[in-house]
Amino acid sequence: MNFENTLSFAQQLDENDSLKKFRERFHIPQHNGKDAIYLCGNSLGLLPKSARSFVEQEFQDWEKFGVEGHFNAKNPWFPYHHFGRKMLAEIVGAKEEEVVAMNSLTANLHLLMVSFYQPKGARKKIMMEANAFPSDQYAIETQVKFHGGNPETDIIEISPREGEYTLRTEDILAQIEKNKNELALILFGGVNYLSGQYFDLKKITDAGHAAGVTVGFDLAHAAGNVTVQLHDWNVDFACWCSYKYLNSGAGGVGGIFVHEKHSANNDLPRFAGWWGNDEQTRFQMKKGFFPQTGAGAWQVSNAPVFAMAIHRASLEIFSEAGIKNLRAKSEQLTAYLEFTLNDFNQKNPEHELKIITPTNISERGCQLSLIAKKDGKKIFEQLTSHGVIADWREPNVIRMSPVPLYNSFEDVYRVGETLMMINGTRI
Ligand SMILES: *Cc1c(COP(=O)(O)O)cnc(C)c1O
Repeated sequence: MNFENTLSFAQQLDENDSLKKFRERFHIPQHNGKDAIYLCGNSLGLLPKSARSFVEQEFQDWEKFGVEGHFNAKNPWFPYHHFGRKMLAEIVGAKEEEVVAMNSLTANLHLLMVSFYQPKGARKKIMMEANAFPSDQYAIETQVKFHGGNPETDIIEISPREGEYTLRTEDILAQIEKNKNELALILFGGVNYLSGQYFDLKKITDAGHAAGVTVGFDLAHAAGNVTVQLHDWNVDFACWCSYKYLNSGAGGVGGIFVHEKHSANNDLPRFAGWWGNDEQTRFQMKKGFFPQTGAGAWQVSNAPVFAMAIHRASLEIFSEAGIKNLRAKSEQLTAYLEFTLNDFNQKNPEHELKIITPTNISERGCQLSLIAKKDGKKIFEQLTSHGVIADWREPNVIRMSPVPLYNSFEDVYRVGETLMMINGTRI
């Protein structure tokens, strides 16, 4: 599409947007009495207006039933993790039994590594992308140590080539091939939090499996952002958080995927808890863990109903909008942001905001990551004071993520307009 950097063009795109009504389902933070331009859905998604009534229902049932709410609540707490599971599965391209909402992301990373990182003999190493989110680095480092390994030698980080910001798929695949006899696990991000690069999960999975290696993904920045097909791609396991693109509130419940091919394997090591036990025998309080089938077997504790109530409110919106439709709009919205930024750069080369996220649409989600030629922090602060809520990641990256559920093309146009204004007057 040929874009134009004008307000009327942006408004026309909004007019034609079949998903535009979803913006009204969210509370948009305010700046000087007007809607802020919120581009931080990659960090903390906005509050769905419906979430309050979902939580209120649980308050009412707790008030009314006490412990009997486990069975008598409108949405009984005993099977609560089943509600919303189908919608969650759709978002990550999985079967219902292959996903479950539980715990939080880093805790789940550990639990899944307990099962799927089994260093043996010469195969001890974990491959990951360089510049992964710190929590993932710490989790992987300490898992290696837990098994008596040495993080210095047992973690292989794949870095961009000199002078580049993102990874080439061919380089990832070549490294898998090169290290194939020493790898125990490949654990990559789906979308890298810093560069916004969306990795080729299918190719990485295929290459890993061809080398006899287990492959898992941290989808913190992918879930609800891009369309993944975890089941069809034969991914072994994955996990994600729900407070970024999935709009389920700070510290919200995480989610996991375990491919069904693993669900009959009761020999996998795991750190179990009662909620992962077969539901028929869970309350018999007998000795001997007997896992239920599917990802639910990895549950440790009973479901955090209040966090999951918010999660369900958000999942219903996703289900109504459709993840494929959202992705289609997202591609256009982000392309429009790229266009307005390029226009700014062309007119203001001295303050170029270099886009380090891939230009190829299939290699990115919503997010564009920018490195300023100069005054990066100042530009970021000026944007904030003008109601453009982006974020800053040390040492020098500004991240902007227009989200198709609640951002408009006009929002994106205003980013460019604001940049022009602050460049003219203040930097
Ligand atoms: C946001 C994020 C986390 C945060 O982990 P929590 O356990 O939810 O605090 C971890 N890893 C990645 C890749 C993230 O993007």
